[in-house]
Amino acid sequence: TQYQDEEKSKEYLDELEFLAYTAGGEVLRRFTQKLDTPNPKTFIGTGKMEEVRAYVDQYEVGTAIFDDELSPAQQKNIEKILKCKVIDRTNLILDIFAQRAQTSYARTQVELAQYEYLLPRLAGMWTHLERQRGGIGMRGPGETEIETDRRIVRDRISLLKKKLEKIDKQQAIQRGNRGALVRVALVGYTNVGKSTLMNTISKSEVFAENKLFATLDTTVRKVVIRNLPFLLSDTVGFIRKLPTQLVESFKSTLDEVREADLLLHVVDISHPQFEDHIASVNQIMDEIEGGDKPTLMVFNKIDAFTHKTIEEDDLVTERTEEHFTLEDWKQTWMSRANGDAIFISALNKDNMDAFRKKVYERVREIHITRFPYNN
Ligand code: GDP
Repeated sequence: TQYQDEEKSKEYLDELEFLAYTAGGEVLRRFTQKLDTPNPKTFIGTGKMEEVRAYVDQYEVGTAIFDDELSPAQQKNIEKILKCKVIDRTNLILDIFAQRAQTSYARTQVELAQYEYLLPRLAGMWTHLERQRGGIGMRGPGETEIETDRRIVRDRISLLKKKLEKIDKQQAIQRGNRGALVRVALVGYTNVGKSTLMNTISKSEVFAENKLFATLDTTVRKVVIRNLPFLLSDTVGFIRKLPTQLVESFKSTLDEVREADLLLHVVDISHPQFEDHIASVNQIMDEIEGGDKPTLMVFNKIDAFTHKTIEEDDLVTERTEEHFTLEDWKQTWMSRANGDAIFISALNKDNMDAFRKKVYERVREIHITRFPYNN
């Protein structure tokens, strides 16, 4: 990994390990190395590589995962040395999406993202080959083959894009047919409890498990709180370093978010890096132009809250770390979120009445502007 800061590096590797587990793998060991610049041929240094090779050999490791994006040449070189499969973070995330895509729409999006990941790699392999052969006058079969491959991949990409456009249009019509009901979207980092919350408030059975990306496809449910109906949707969980190919092809999945009237930004307050997670989600929201939507911050997992590390500017009054309680956090975040923050445990159903009331109030505000005669 390339992170200078040890804490950051651990955090990213924890997440990578969790991703590997989500993909169905078991992580045996982690290796880290501090380098000013990555080795152009093998990414990590020779000594470290030897250490990894010995380990892979001894324990018959099947796959080595790198947290950073490897060039195609690096990937090949490392595979040659380690004699096992070598993948990077992007690879891993694409793999998880591929495993979990349930609808034909999601499968098409993933396939598109995979081809888009592949295309520049084919180009990379080509320059790499050309250089090896000395370049001049080498219009050999290798190049033609790769050109053919690239053409096939490009054709496939445009076909998939057309297919997605068609489904997008159908979905836009479907969204249009839902009438003027207020639309609420759950957003948040992956694994914060969005599906659990969806289940709790809509009494439906949405798949919830302690893995990343349990939600790939958007689920929309009609929810009624005190005779007030509205639509609630659950979207794909966000994650840091989401491959750009995926952000692009999942843009349409995010239409549900873009067209929502109100966002419930769910945060796992028990996660030590929850503030980073909030920032990542806000960044993606800005990217899809949903940054200025009315938002209710929902701090979940208060049952598991043990967070002690606070930044200086979070201290509203003079308190020591040990004395900083959930109540203090509430005050801090309430003031930050202009009073619109709520603290719950979706799992234990703590504070759900207050949550329902808050959502009701916010939805009602929007609802009465649409149905002024019914109120
Ligand atoms: P999503 O990826 O945001 O949809 O998250 P999920 O709803 O799938 O939940 C991820 C994990 O967090 C699951 O193991 C849930 O059981 C767990 N979880 C959800 N809400 C809570 C909560 O309030 N407290 C605790 N301790 N765990 C929760």
